[in-house]
Amino acid sequence: MTDAERAEQIMRFIYALRSKGVTDANVLRAMERIDRGAFVRGTFAARAYEDTPLPIACGQTISQPSVVALMTEALEVTPRDKVLEVGTGSGYQAAILSQLARRVYTVERHRPLVAEARATFDRLGLTNIIAMAADGSYGLPEQAPFDRILVTAAAEDPPGPLKQQLRIGGIMIVPVGQSDAVQTLVKVRRTESGFEYDELRPVRFVPLLEGMARE
Ligand code: SAH
Repeated sequence: MTDAERAEQIMRFIYALRSKGVTDANVLRAMERIDRGAFVRGTFAARAYEDTPLPIACGQTISQPSVVALMTEALEVTPRDKVLEVGTGSGYQAAILSQLARRVYTVERHRPLVAEARATFDRLGLTNIIAMAADGSYGLPEQAPFDRILVTAAAEDPPGPLKQQLRIGGIMIVPVGQSDAVQTLVKVRRTESGFEYDELRPVRFVPLLEGMARE
């Protein structure tokens, strides 16, 4: 692909995100900077700039770019934030967050995905992401509290341990609902006195599973 073709492809990608309702200039800039093609393998790499989820290793998927952008926007990340992502997958969402936050911790239950994501972060020079193999339903207590938490797998309810690891004033975005149905993206805000919940939009994610995967 020539430089001109690549520029054209990115322009169309950003245009598509805008038409899906993404307006935040910082989020759009992050989506422009991070090459989604670096996070998908083989024949699927050619489709990296389509607004569609794609298969990755371990039977998982990289989310649809417009969903990544809208979730990132809803998270209201600021440059001083320490962010936790649950469900590293390909690492794409973490890479987008890394452009907006001070530091990103991302956890994944499939070890091979963690190894692959780390290699991609190294290749792209993304030094403020720490990827770890862990069961994210319990969060990452040793690094808590977090300013922002983004869950990229569907939970039946916003997980209690994650709510507890949110700083007061912090925000968590989490898909809530049964795994075989359409889920609702929920925004949780921790206040001095408790938690506030907002339902944002319907989404579809793989389920948040307990325990480490066996490979
Ligand atoms: N954010 C990813 C896509 C997420 S797909 C990306 O940008 O590519 C959801 C991921 O959540 C899957 O990789 C799945 O293995 C992981 N997952 C599910 N339950 C988990 C848990 N309890 N802890 C950590 N990761 C989990």
